Amino acid sequence: MLPKASRTGSKNSSHPPIKIPELLAPAGNFEKMITAIHYGADAVYCGGKKYSLRAHAGNFSDKQLAEAVAYAHERGVKLYVTVNIFAHMEDLQGLEKYLLFLRDIQVDGIIISDPGILALAKEICEIPVHLSTQANVTNPANAKFWEAQGVARLNVARELSLVEIAEIRKSLDETTMVEVFVHGALCISYSGRCLLSYYFTGRDANRGECAHPCRYKYVLKEEKRPGQYFPVEEDEHGTYIFNSKDLCLLSKLPQLINIGVDSLKLEGRMKTVYYVGAVVRVYRAAIDYIAQNIEEAIANNRMISLPPIYMDELMKVGTRGYTENFIFGPPSAEDMLYDRSRTDQEYVPVGLVQGFGGSAEEGKWLEVEMRSPLRKGETIEYLCRDINVVSFEVLELLDQHGIPLEQANPGNIVKIYYDTESAWAWEVNGLLRMKK
Ligand code: SF4
Repeated sequence: MLPKASRTGSKNSSHPPIKIPELLAPAGNFEKMITAIHYGADAVYCGGKKYSLRAHAGNFSDKQLAEAVAYAHERGVKLYVTVNIFAHMEDLQGLEKYLLFLRDIQVDGIIISDPGILALAKEICEIPVHLSTQANVTNPANAKFWEAQGVARLNVARELSLVEIAEIRKSLDETTMVEVFVHGALCISYSGRCLLSYYFTGRDANRGECAHPCRYKYVLKEEKRPGQYFPVEEDEHGTYIFNSKDLCLLSKLPQLINIGVDSLKLEGRMKTVYYVGAVVRVYRAAIDYIAQNIEEAIANNRMISLPPIYMDELMKVGTRGYTENFIFGPPSAEDMLYDRSRTDQEYVPVGLVQGFGGSAEEGKWLEVEMRSPLRKGETIEYLCRDINVVSFEVLELLDQHGIPLEQANPGNIVKIYYDTESAWAWEVNGLLRMKK
């Protein structure tokens, strides 16, 4: 088990105590939660079937939510539940009962953006309330307003610079937590406060139904020529005028820790298990690296910079390209991806480890639930729970009945035979990937 980031105090008396923030990961469903916890999340956030943005994330039934809280708590991980729609009247039906249910299963926080839901939650239950990024906290006065309403944690708007986040942190009571999105997809609008989806598809982003039209390919139409569409082209792919690159503040983690941020949040409840595991893993390892080196850095009055392997590993996860967004000033055209919806993905997920074993006679194997086709002879990589990767060749593939396969396909449960001395690395719930 990797060491969890702990809230440590620097021994250097001339520097205020440094706290190592929580790593908060998305859990779009139970499997993604297990993977996020496996790769070192300190806390996860997920949605129930109602009242949550990301209505299409799979989400958790009430029964699954109760099981998820138990699973997380057994492993010392916190679980927060999103109740972050901007509610219309009909959305309020059953909300009181749901909040009491969340209290009873002992969730560690509820994430809200609607002041009415905040008031109801404060009135009927004592679950700590976290303010969603949808509430757009952009300045200390705004932050203090929400603090006065009894909010325990604020996720500040993604449109802020490091200096602005630092000012908000300073303005609040030490016990009020500040949470910052550090990685994931970005809205072209103020997070989620956007009518594009409702306008084009009738699906309301502010009620969890966003159809992501900001990623669509757009054309030009002239009013006197109905039915004729003129391509708007940067190149042969067209142009995607609202398509922001993805946020990545990996290299700014030392600065965010330095200003006292309490929680570092990863976006991605709609993303795959592989994405969640691969991103959590890199951020966990990076935070641990910083925690191990921070006292020496403070003593020598220098800012930590992460070794290149951390960003190299992150680049192996599919992305639209990365931007640091507003952290050192407003973004520019460089922070948009105008010519396509997605960048190419160099690596693909192979599968999830479900078991391992073997003997000298039988050979050594990993039991894997497959996510992509895999053939005998191909080289795959196992993602360790630190920044290391174990690379090995597939010697043999057997199906569940022990019948040899030339190729395994998504959904198959197979035994992958290997020949590497790195069997110490295997753990159930570990991820495998391969280069395309
Ligand atoms: S359409 Fe795009 S910008 Fe608008 S809420 Fe959805 S993801 Fe955000």
